[in-house]
Amino acid sequence: MEKITTLAISMSDRKGPASGGNDTPFIVIFTDLDGTLLDHHSYAWDKAKPALDTCRRHHVPVIMVSSKTRAEMDVLRKKLNLPSPFISENGGGIFFPKKCIGSVPPGTVFVKNIWKWSIGTPYEILVQSLREIREKLGWKIRGFSDMTPEEISHLTGLDLVSSRLAAIREYDEPFMILEQDDKDIDALFDAAKQRELQITEGGRFYHIHGKTDKGAAVKKVISWYEESYPQVFTIALGDSPNDFSMLKQVDHPILIRSKRDFPEIAERFQGMEVTRETGPEGWNSAVLEILGKIIKGGIS
Ligand SMILES: [Mg+2]
Repeated sequence: MEKITTLAISMSDRKGPASGGNDTPFIVIFTDLDGTLLDHHSYAWDKAKPALDTCRRHHVPVIMVSSKTRAEMDVLRKKLNLPSPFISENGGGIFFPKKCIGSVPPGTVFVKNIWKWSIGTPYEILVQSLREIREKLGWKIRGFSDMTPEEISHLTGLDLVSSRLAAIREYDEPFMILEQDDKDIDALFDAAKQRELQITEGGRFYHIHGKTDKGAAVKKVISWYEESYPQVFTIALGDSPNDFSMLKQVDHPILIRSKRDFPEIAERFQGMEVTRETGPEGWNSAVLEILGKIIKGGIS
């Protein structure tokens, strides 16, 4: 673990009953977006609004952790009014908006009005490697870098503006296999491994990226807060296997109910809570419940 310099969290983070004063630890919430804070189909979050407002009132940072790009998440954090750091492209990058940071972890650079801490492998290397793998295997593989925003929109259901933002990639290249020979899919995974890269399978696409995941990035952000607060209590919410590494890092993991069942993970994560409702509705009740238990004097 890299040493992180001590830094001052913004004054707004420091105030309030959840700031580590009295007997209440400083609470930090990490959250996945699609199917978790955002509705799986409509991308709406209105049902989570009461809990989001409570977090704001009690100065509990809500850290978005997603496979989305910085460009997509920057738009969302403004709409959601979340001034906290956020984690993009499955742990590839950690971003600190100007307002939430006093000094920065080593290696962090100021780019496009935001502090950026790169953890993942640069996109150019991923695109180049995927091209080499395509040639080596002789398969028909099509990555986001080969696609127009119209094509991305058609494949993902995102509107054109969002598709353009989804194409501004830094640490992860999504791709499809249009045609493969009789070689096993393991040949693809092995070719990535030989290049010290990883392939994961998402809902719609395969992804090629460096050896990063949500959990490793979340761990860095937790250490960052621990430099400033003697007692930090961490909560994470997610609905998919790519959230499990994040759920493993926190004090209170919450699995958001979805159509999929993961019977094995209740055993893997001690104390994990599974919400009654799906998406933002589940997010709302689970967050209100846990904050009510931890914040001394109750939530307002
Ligand atoms: Mg999700």
